[in-house]
Amino acid sequence: MTGTWQLRGARPLGGEPTDILVRDGLIDSMGGGGAPAGAQVLDASGLIALPGLVDLHTHLREPGREDAETVETGTRAAALGGFTAVHAMANTEPVADTAGVVEQIWRLGRQAGHCDVHPVGAVTVGLGGAHLAELGAMADSAARVRVFSDDGRCVSDAVLMRRALEYVKAFGGVIAQHAQEPRLTEGAQLNEGEVSGRLGLTGWPAVAEEAVVARDCLLAAHVGSALHVCHVSTAGSVEIIRWAKSKGWRVTAEVTPHHLLLTDDCAAGYDPVFKVNPPLRTAADVAALRAGLADGTIDCVATDHAPHPVEDKETEWDSAAFGMTGLETALRVVQQAMVDTGLLDWAGVADRMSRRPAAIGRLPGPGGVLEPGLPASLTLYDASASGEVDPRAHASMSRNSPFAGRVLPGRVVATFRRGTPTVLDGKLA
Ligand SMILES: [Zn+2]
Repeated sequence: MTGTWQLRGARPLGGEPTDILVRDGLIDSMGGGGAPAGAQVLDASGLIALPGLVDLHTHLREPGREDAETVETGTRAAALGGFTAVHAMANTEPVADTAGVVEQIWRLGRQAGHCDVHPVGAVTVGLGGAHLAELGAMADSAARVRVFSDDGRCVSDAVLMRRALEYVKAFGGVIAQHAQEPRLTEGAQLNEGEVSGRLGLTGWPAVAEEAVVARDCLLAAHVGSALHVCHVSTAGSVEIIRWAKSKGWRVTAEVTPHHLLLTDDCAAGYDPVFKVNPPLRTAADVAALRAGLADGTIDCVATDHAPHPVEDKETEWDSAAFGMTGLETALRVVQQAMVDTGLLDWAGVADRMSRRPAAIGRLPGPGGVLEPGLPASLTLYDASASGEVDPRAHASMSRNSPFAGRVLPGRVVATFRRGTPTVLDGKLA
């Protein structure tokens, strides 16, 4: 399937139609001219060409929870969603807290071959929050880990957080924090507010996130190191990050597609498909998150793709697992929340879903750009399509999509990774 491709009439970043010639894994040229002999021609008229999407926050579940997802199925889902690289979170079983485990995940990703897999290393041993993991050994491993996170849990100990920030500074790494003050969220089930009160579910206050975000911004500034805030969910967090950035501190942040579109009202029927950590918030929070992403305060969209088997999800609200799938719907949700609302153009989408996450993830190469001479990692997207989301048709092993039954705009038509198609005509190549 490799070789030479002419993507005829594609619209780079939503601009004027042109022909993109892909040869030897690179974008050979962009512009007119006929297809060279032997080139395979893909009619891309009307399709938007975006640089291959990069996800900073994916749960691939392997090793340990292969009943929820594997590297193979998760990377298939990623490719179908337009992604050419994902960062695999460390909360596997065993936890990715040693060079051995991150190399295992890195190798599984290379074998699967649907997209690049960059393992995230745990900050603390076993996600236990007590002792720093071997960050240096993971950084020096074949997996070249640069992003470290205890995601799923918060590094709540300020001394450990400070030490971790100091440690990664030496090799240009970043600590990605799951900001959740544990004592303020004991037993918490849903955003603390009118809806949680009405439903009788234990509230999850915004301050439990914001207090940690503020503390960590201050710590990052004190140490002079890089902090990345995972899945920002409140208006207050956006304000704090805006303030930290105005100081010139090395703070970046992500927002999930679901926090850009859904509110805690979705939980009114106690359907656990809407149970997620951090919880869905209010319409005012959604508006602030969209504005923060539009003005660049929030750097990027990250899926927090969190697959769970049916038995862990289709149960009583209180006992259901936290999390939602997201890889296969991310770009479509971003179109609905950000593009169709006029908040972001396609160049902005390319920036927030490819260029900036690639930079935050310390990926080699320029990343996120469509230019002759650069690797041909790109996505062809039909923004004029629309369709109902059916998780049964997804490549992910799990079915817990909060968008099931919803009509979303857009369709990923093709994905190329370094010149090789991973998806053609909306199906795995
Ligand atoms: Zn998290």
